[in-house]
Amino acid sequence: MDEQYITREMVRQTVEFHGHSCPGLAFGIRVAEQVVRRFGTSDDEELVAVVENDMCAVDAIQFLTGCTFGKGNLLFLDYGKNVYSFYRRATGSGIRIAVRPDIGCLHDEQLQALMRRKASRGLDVDEQRLLAERRERRRQRIMEAPADELFRIREIPGPVPRRARVMESLVCASCGEPVMESRTRRLFGRTLCIPCFDAEERRI
Ligand SMILES: [Zn+2]
Ligand SMILES: [Zn+2]
Repeated sequence: MDEQYITREMVRQTVEFHGHSCPGLAFGIRVAEQVVRRFGTSDDEELVAVVENDMCAVDAIQFLTGCTFGKGNLLFLDYGKNVYSFYRRATGSGIRIAVRPDIGCLHDEQLQALMRRKASRGLDVDEQRLLAERRERRRQRIMEAPADELFRIREIPGPVPRRARVMESLVCASCGEPVMESRTRRLFGRTLCIPCFDAEERRI
């Protein structure tokens, strides 16, 4: 972790924003470090992030890079991958940051065994404490490891991906709430929002 780009105080604020300190957030902080090092932060929406999961790391990316859901310069692809791409509007090109599959310094068989046990039969108090310790150790190692041990980073060509355009709203025939036209469904000639469509379709 290079404090020239992400200071201790920024890390503290990121943890406060996220609500807890965890390995996932640590990955997000290190991703943000790479982005700030190359591009600076995005005050004017000049940077666009594409994230391929919606887990803890994304909170750090939103907080530290200025790419946020609300501004529309953070796009979510539900691929379940630990991959983050950043494009610069000015040049159209960007970088793709992929977390490496086998990071030597993070290898921890005890942690894996505890996670498996947690999923299958749950953990007793001692095991929970041990799990918390191993996770904290993992978090620290993520924060300290050289970036090229953690990530595969490559340049990617544009174009900058576009967010769904804001279109006219239609009113759902079932709940009466307005819904973006591109998100409506049709059922027997009626225009419905997605939750109403799902509910009515289940009843058929
Ligand atoms: Zn977390
Ligand atoms: Zn509806």
